[in-house]
Amino acid sequence: MSEKTPLLPVREKAYAKLNISLDVTARRGDGYHDMLMIMQTVSLCDEITIEPDEGGEVSALTGLPYVPGDRRNLAVRAALQFLELVGDEGRGMKITMRKAVPVGAGMAGGSADAAAVLRALNRAYGEPFGAEALCAAGESVGSDVAFCLRGGTALASGRGERLTPLPALPPCRFVIVKPDFSISTPELFRKLDSVKLSCHPDTEGLLAAIGNGDLDGMCRRMYNVFEDVPDRRMRSIRAAKGALLDCGALGALMTGTGSAVFGVFRDAKSAEATRETLRGEYRFCRTAESVGPLL
Ligand code: ATP
Repeated sequence: MSEKTPLLPVREKAYAKLNISLDVTARRGDGYHDMLMIMQTVSLCDEITIEPDEGGEVSALTGLPYVPGDRRNLAVRAALQFLELVGDEGRGMKITMRKAVPVGAGMAGGSADAAAVLRALNRAYGEPFGAEALCAAGESVGSDVAFCLRGGTALASGRGERLTPLPALPPCRFVIVKPDFSISTPELFRKLDSVKLSCHPDTEGLLAAIGNGDLDGMCRRMYNVFEDVPDRRMRSIRAAKGALLDCGALGALMTGTGSAVFGVFRDAKSAEATRETLRGEYRFCRTAESVGPLL
């Protein structure tokens, strides 16, 4: 067996993320924005299987008509990037994804898939790359891929790729609901650029609350500047937050650019009761818990 023959098939979980906070601190000259975000990996995940494909192509299968299976899929891009780095271009692979993370929800579903592919292929090839090199490969695929690779709790800055690990969140459970529409990230950034933001998250206060294990203090300070963008759909986002808070959530927030919204609960029992209450109203309604570092 050649050194470059990967041990396939390989399976990996692609965990979603939630934003405990999201701030946009500057618009940069290169068209990107400077962000400051506290991110948390959660147990809701896609399941990835990578198998050999004798045809020599890298393709993705999701079973979802609105998710492309070619190079537009971040998982395919991650695999091609990995094959180039490891010097095994031309190797065919079929990436099957059982998608559980909603698409266009602000939960980094595509980036999580890309990260899972990088972790899985690194394993299949006998760990040729360390965490740093894998993150560098991920960054070229997307800004959230580095966080999805490392997982856990982190402060993300720059485009989202500069990461500082944080202590784990205080014990809690999440209930995630998604109204029946998706929000395009570029569209929301354009709308954000058209307004002057007057409120920003108290990131320092949030970091202190997390460091002190103060769940109430964390929930009081959770904030996402995208909720202040003038967009009709934010009415439904506010309604979803209201529904979660009415069920006893300690705090509720839109994650990323939406449209998923989550509530924070002290324990599994109250989270499960909320899911039971809201599942008739929201087709997508799940409980989840925090997941620690992955690399
Ligand atoms: P983010 O939180 O990073 O803004 P999101 O959760 O809002 O991401 P995604 O679910 O990652 O958004 O998908 C957004 C777009 O990316 C969709 O239009 C989809 O077609 C495309 N896409 C590319 N690769 C994937 C993938 N593996 N899974 C889902 N969507 C993908």
